[in-house]
Amino acid sequence: MSMLWRRGLTLVLAQAVLGGLGGWLSGWVGALVAVLLASWLWLLWDSWQAGRLWRWLQSGHLSAVPHLHGLWSQLSASARRWLRAKERSAQAAQQRVQGMLHALQASPNGLILLDEHGQIEWCNRMAEGHFGLQAERDLGQALGHLVRDPALLAYWQEGDFSEPLSMEGSQGARLSVQLHPYGAGRHLLLARDVSALEQAEAMRREFVANVSHEIRTPLTVLVGFVETLQTLELDEAQRQRYLELMGQQAQRMQHLVQDLLTLSRLEGSPLPGYHEAVGVTAILQQCEVEARALSRLLCKPGEQPHQLDFPAPDAPGMRAQLLGVQVELVSAFSNLITNALRYTPSGGLVQVRWLLQSDGSAQLQVRDTGPGIEPAHLARLTERFYRVDHSRSRETGGTGLGLAIVKHALQRHGARLQIESQLGQGSVFSVHFPARRIRLPETDALSGPQHTKL
Ligand code: ADP
Repeated sequence: MSMLWRRGLTLVLAQAVLGGLGGWLSGWVGALVAVLLASWLWLLWDSWQAGRLWRWLQSGHLSAVPHLHGLWSQLSASARRWLRAKERSAQAAQQRVQGMLHALQASPNGLILLDEHGQIEWCNRMAEGHFGLQAERDLGQALGHLVRDPALLAYWQEGDFSEPLSMEGSQGARLSVQLHPYGAGRHLLLARDVSALEQAEAMRREFVANVSHEIRTPLTVLVGFVETLQTLELDEAQRQRYLELMGQQAQRMQHLVQDLLTLSRLEGSPLPGYHEAVGVTAILQQCEVEARALSRLLCKPGEQPHQLDFPAPDAPGMRAQLLGVQVELVSAFSNLITNALRYTPSGGLVQVRWLLQSDGSAQLQVRDTGPGIEPAHLARLTERFYRVDHSRSRETGGTGLGLAIVKHALQRHGARLQIESQLGQGSVFSVHFPARRIRLPETDALSGPQHTKL
């Protein structure tokens, strides 16, 4: 039976019962009054229930459902179900919004949502840092009032947002800012910190300028000699002398190109693995042969040669192996030893030491009794083309890239270069290798869990 029928039936039943009772007590007048009374009572009870339902709906407290009867009970149950479903979907929507805001907070870029008047509706922490904002304090404020940058103001007023704007952020960072319209007159402001990019670009420009400068000098000299040879009548001795000088300049350019290629190979190749093992003795023996040859070249006739002190092949730790790329390790060791010779006057001492530490790490030390380096230069020595002694560097065939190559090759092996020097006393270039790059034969193994055994 439908709810409405049941409702009608209740009313009729109430009227019939009370009407019958009234008729039995006072005849038809009593019956009429009783029917009217029953109708009024029914209406009162019904209105009271409607009122309770209404108050409950107004209160918004879903859990406190009133106890109702009949149609009102069913209405309250349906209303409750409907409100519950609405509440759940509102909660889900709220969670989605929160999730999106958290994702936007995690963005490495600064994000600001602006309304149609340019007022901040929301911003993430990165944007707070970029523009010196505080979300709690600044929401609802016009961005133009808070960030008083004429370039940003002009960008906003012009309304052409097809290209990003480059401006300085509140902490001196270089920002690339772009506005993206969305919704009705609203904008998303996207700010990227491009300081590192700009710095890299500046370094690239400086590098290209340096390379051009390094090549231009020997090239100019070479062109000059070619013109001389073409235009002047020279005897054989003069011709030979000019050709020798031209050869030196060509060699200088060749060294430069070789070092540039080495650097670019170091930058472009994958990091060294641990499968290739290079014997320390083998590297140092090769370096010693090269060092003796170089010393002979550097010392003029009559001068005392350098004193070279290399560890004997049976010295402690010399049976160790280095795990990494052979050419890179040889290049790093050889550059340090070559530098020690080139900057140490003839007769001076160049001492090479290989030291195994108790924690399994190892150290290569190249000590010289050369002129030493002023402390102010030490931190910059590994920069490309940074030279302290320009003339000595050029005279001895230096390219200014040697220590940059050393640093790069060592970094790739997890090793660290340390430079100590005292003016007039000499320098010590030390390379620290971590234990994971050292492999020892069983018998040489020092205590410590980090050794890789042969
Ligand atoms: P270069 O090819 O000019 O030697 P490097 O990058 O190898 O370039 O070295 C950078 C600079 O560091 C050198 O120009 C030189 O002034 C200084 N230097 C390097 N090694 C030594 C050393 N053992 N003693 C003194 N100065 C050194």
